Amino acid sequence: MRILLISDIHSNLVALETVLADAGSFDKIWCLGDLVGYGPQPNECIEHLRKSNALAVAGNHDWAVLGKFDVEDFNPDARLAALWTRNQLSVTSLDWLHALDERLPKQLDTYTLVHGSPRSPVYEYVLTPSTARQNMDYFDTPVCLMGHTHIPVVYRFDEKENKVSQWQLEEKVPLFLGAQRMMVNPGSVGQPRDGDPRSAYAILETDAGTLTHYRVSYDIRATQRKMEQANLPPRLIQRLDFGY
Ligand code: ZN
Repeated sequence: MRILLISDIHSNLVALETVLADAGSFDKIWCLGDLVGYGPQPNECIEHLRKSNALAVAGNHDWAVLGKFDVEDFNPDARLAALWTRNQLSVTSLDWLHALDERLPKQLDTYTLVHGSPRSPVYEYVLTPSTARQNMDYFDTPVCLMGHTHIPVVYRFDEKENKVSQWQLEEKVPLFLGAQRMMVNPGSVGQPRDGDPRSAYAILETDAGTLTHYRVSYDIRATQRKMEQANLPPRLIQRLDFGY
């Protein structure tokens, strides 16, 4: 099976449509949370995933918009975007977001899907090998797929050495899954934060056991114009130019 693996779309429909076109044909979409927040087209993004019957987990921004946690925890820009998004969402979109699980364990017996981390699926950021090491004890499949940091990365667990090492996900270079347990982040579709403004995603080939990382340029200006029309915070608009 060929699976399109995406995360952190953040209501950026132009980016999402560009990724869908670039990915070509696939059998299924897996989404690692944060469909909404920050960007200008939350309903349209949810609609895409809903209609394509995507498998998705809930992210912290999805929960913020639903009121499942207090938006006071966010910085002012993120809070404003969450409240704006809450006012935009249709009943259908809200219902779809409400139904998302925090964690999807044992997908195809091999993959655990979360937004943040297996230890704290909605909130925790995995940004270091030591945090990744602690989290290796919280899932029981060979591979954990996660988003949340908006930074593409692989953490591999050497069980003999009891040590986790951090690797870059290289563009268009298949990563073979299965030799070691690992945690993989495909990066963000709608708001990359690794200094590269292009959308990030991955293709999982389940028969071959590979995950391949891709980047694709999208029309950033088109998204920015929609954000300006919606009066979303200028800092959120500008950061798309820088991949931060
Ligand atoms: Zn996010």
